[in-house]
Amino acid sequence: MSDDDADRTDAERGEAVRQLVAQVGEVGRVSGREPWRELVSWLTRGRWGRRAGWPAVPVLITPWQDTLSAERHGWRTRAANLAGDFAFAVDYRICRRCRIGWVEQPHTHTRYRRQGLASAGLAALRAEYPGLSWHTLGGHFRSSQAFWAAVGLHVPGGYHQRRLCPHLEPRR
Ligand SMILES: [Zn+2]
Repeated sequence: MSDDDADRTDAERGEAVRQLVAQVGEVGRVSGREPWRELVSWLTRGRWGRRAGWPAVPVLITPWQDTLSAERHGWRTRAANLAGDFAFAVDYRICRRCRIGWVEQPHTHTRYRRQGLASAGLAALRAEYPGLSWHTLGGHFRSSQAFWAAVGLHVPGGYHQRRLCPHLEPRR
């Protein structure tokens, strides 16, 4: 989190989070083809933007953003931007054939927890992909079981653990 944020009061942070929750539909998107990288490369005459390993995730100016995942090949990352950093981020994958969505490792910055950011982010994904069942790839830590029980209530699939379908499994 940047220094800007360290100067904020709790009330200011709370207000910033309320705005993010309200703006959950305002999503900047970067497709899988990495045009942003081409643009950055062009703007900086090739100094930045050269691909080395996984892509770095660009921080867009929109309240929320949707990009390639920097950590998981084939996944996307939905994130909320605040003070030049991610207040919340979650990786997700969709199989349209199986009508299943997977989410993995939703993470809310410690300063912004328990204010509804994660549930708003997950709800936005469900709204964008209606009719899917929702699962997680990994198991749930004991410390996060209450969270999953709450966000999974009345959600098809309930965010229970499920392995990827054959369409999304990496080829061996
Ligand atoms: Zn599938």
